Amino acid sequence: MSSYPITSWQIGRVKITRVIEMEVAGGSRFILPDATRDAVKPIGWLQPHFADDQGNLIMSIHALVIETPEQKIVVDTCIGNDKQRNIPNWSNLKLPFLQDLAEAGYERNDVDTVMCTHLHVDHVGWNTLFEDGQWKPTFPRARYLMGRREYAYWDSEDEDPMNSGVMGDSVRPVFEAGLVDLVEMDHRICDEVRLEATPGHTPGHVSVHIRSEGSEALITGDCIHHPCQMEKLDWCSSADYDQALARSTRDDLLNRYSDTDVLIIGTHFATPTAGHIKRSNDHYWFDVSQ
Ligand SMILES: [Zn+2]
Repeated sequence: MSSYPITSWQIGRVKITRVIEMEVAGGSRFILPDATRDAVKPIGWLQPHFADDQGNLIMSIHALVIETPEQKIVVDTCIGNDKQRNIPNWSNLKLPFLQDLAEAGYERNDVDTVMCTHLHVDHVGWNTLFEDGQWKPTFPRARYLMGRREYAYWDSEDEDPMNSGVMGDSVRPVFEAGLVDLVEMDHRICDEVRLEATPGHTPGHVSVHIRSEGSEALITGDCIHHPCQMEKLDWCSSADYDQALARSTRDDLLNRYSDTDVLIIGTHFATPTAGHIKRSNDHYWFDVSQ
């Protein structure tokens, strides 16, 4: 049995499947410092999916597998097991993520492509696993796509305390195994899947756009951490590299995709994770009713 329910969405001929590593209530105010309980509680539409009745934000860490007729693509690889991290709840995990991935229908050797929206600790972890005393690529037959700009930044910021150890145990081993392709921020992965530049959270942050047979979806990455940022446009993440740029990227994304049929799939949005952005006067909200 999977630890969490496995959810899929069909976008034309493309199937997108969510595999959760962990879903938690509370503890996320270090990421969104403005989102105090008192500030969150009055935003009624966040309950029950994205906040509890005490005003604690609920967030998820999950991977999204995009299965096209030709390719199996894993977008973002969560925190990973056995890694020593600064955040105690993220350190030295022993979670059944790979079993859950297999249960969803994706064995490690089936994966063709791994795409990291950015190189933060909770998006690259399962790039590698600890085996025979060393970090090895989890998906040995995959090409790992990383933004050229994103990689260049972290390559020179290896000691950033936010991301300490991440390059060494989760990025460089796949690079050294010859599995990485550095790509531009508008890279087209295949007919149905292309990247969309959404910088600010990190310098080379991208979102992933899926289009097939007239249907569309967008995997946001962390340019929107939590749906509360649709209501509160000025709530910025403390993990943002450039808050002003992150804000303008977010404004642009909300404006472009609100009141459209594009299914928005958040990278940290708790269950049900996907919905549609609706505009309401001077703010937005997230409609998960269908
Ligand atoms: Zn994240």
